[in-house]
Amino acid sequence: PGDAVTEMLERIEKDNVKFLRLQFTDLLGMPKNVAIPVSQAKKALTDGIGFDGSSIEGFVRIEESDMLLKPDLETYTVLPWRPRENAVARFICDVHKANGEPFEGDPRYVLRKAMEDAKKDGYTFNTGPELEFFLFKMIDGKPTTLFQDVGGYFDLAPTDLAENVRRDIVIALEAMGFEIEASHHEVAESQHEIDFKYSDALTTADRVVTFKFATKTLALMAGLHATFMAKPVYGINGSGMHVNCSLAKDGKNAFYDQGGKLQLSETAYYFIGGLVKHAKAITRVANPTVNSYKRLVPGYEAPCYISWSASNRSAQIRVPAPRGNSTRVEFRSPDPTCNPYLAFAAMLAAGMDGVRNKIAPPESTNKNIFHMTLAERQETGIETLPGNLYEANLALLADDVVCKALGKHIVDALTCIAEAEWDSFRTAVHPWEVERYLATY
Ligand code: GLU
Ligand code: MG
Ligand code: MG
Repeated sequence: PGDAVTEMLERIEKDNVKFLRLQFTDLLGMPKNVAIPVSQAKKALTDGIGFDGSSIEGFVRIEESDMLLKPDLETYTVLPWRPRENAVARFICDVHKANGEPFEGDPRYVLRKAMEDAKKDGYTFNTGPELEFFLFKMIDGKPTTLFQDVGGYFDLAPTDLAENVRRDIVIALEAMGFEIEASHHEVAESQHEIDFKYSDALTTADRVVTFKFATKTLALMAGLHATFMAKPVYGINGSGMHVNCSLAKDGKNAFYDQGGKLQLSETAYYFIGGLVKHAKAITRVANPTVNSYKRLVPGYEAPCYISWSASNRSAQIRVPAPRGNSTRVEFRSPDPTCNPYLAFAAMLAAGMDGVRNKIAPPESTNKNIFHMTLAERQETGIETLPGNLYEANLALLADDVVCKALGKHIVDALTCIAEAEWDSFRTAVHPWEVERYLATY
């Protein structure tokens, strides 16, 4: 380890870095960071850097607030949009308690633990997310919901800001080590998607946080506001974060079986079975805002029923066509407001419950579920995802497997947040109500 630190210090010097940002995320998945001058690098990389955890959402109480950030050397990257002379680099950190133990409220630790658990059976969890977002105009320095363009799916926009911003984002992410697979205009006006290559879930979760942060920064530099809010505008598509999932064992894709039904292995079917069984609880972390549930409604390519299918995009879980090493299950309900560490940990725990307890998935649904009646859905056993944050939190509390994966500290904090958010929303009087009732009654 001493050598690794020495090598890293040399690299930092070679890159002309003057400031280091030590980054981690709070419970909501918000990136937090403290900047240190490079003179403190050796100390930070050897012993970690202390900070006060009491002001971080979902962390600790005042009386036990001394915490330690330990940089993960693998996550070093120079921030490409900052000056190259006297550059700024960042590390993603693990959060430890003052006594040196890992902190159970650190979302990164929760995902590490879930991955170590799957490793006991030889599995590595790989994820590849598809992040959608809107680019809106800013007026007087404030974000609005005014469209920046009126393009649609895969459109070639006239040369406009959006095309250039998307290009800047892709170039910056590539400079930070991302392998970008595609970037395109999405279905809604001003909506975009950029896809990057899958990796192990921890690396991917780190990248999701970096992706959002880089996208917002580069949009702002072009005078635009990038938002990952799930449903910013009523009546058009919201933004999803579909997650392509697979398990690897002994370096091979464990979801592929040439002789299996649809060329899928038993492991793949049981993983789907686990996702279906725990879908409601996963929703609490995959769709963590009041607004997330405005996206999970019929008619906008987002799922609202718990179901799977080999092709049908109205299902929550889809199996995309590629096989062999690209065999995967696309979990379509998450949205990009989720904390990716917690969402992936919950999905993995659910999938592994399926694999270990051989939970067979229900029949796949090959009809468009949005065209089925309630009676037809009931007949085929298709259940509905939670309708709001409060219901989703109750579903989490009722699910031992997902609660255990997240740990008591996180479940308690998530419950406080869900109750407070739901109460604030539930008791507010919304413009819809005023418009609907004020004149009539
Ligand atoms: N925007 C849709 C969603 O909310 C997804 C569109 C697509 O299939 O890419 O999930
Ligand atoms: Mg999309
Ligand atoms: Mg997709």
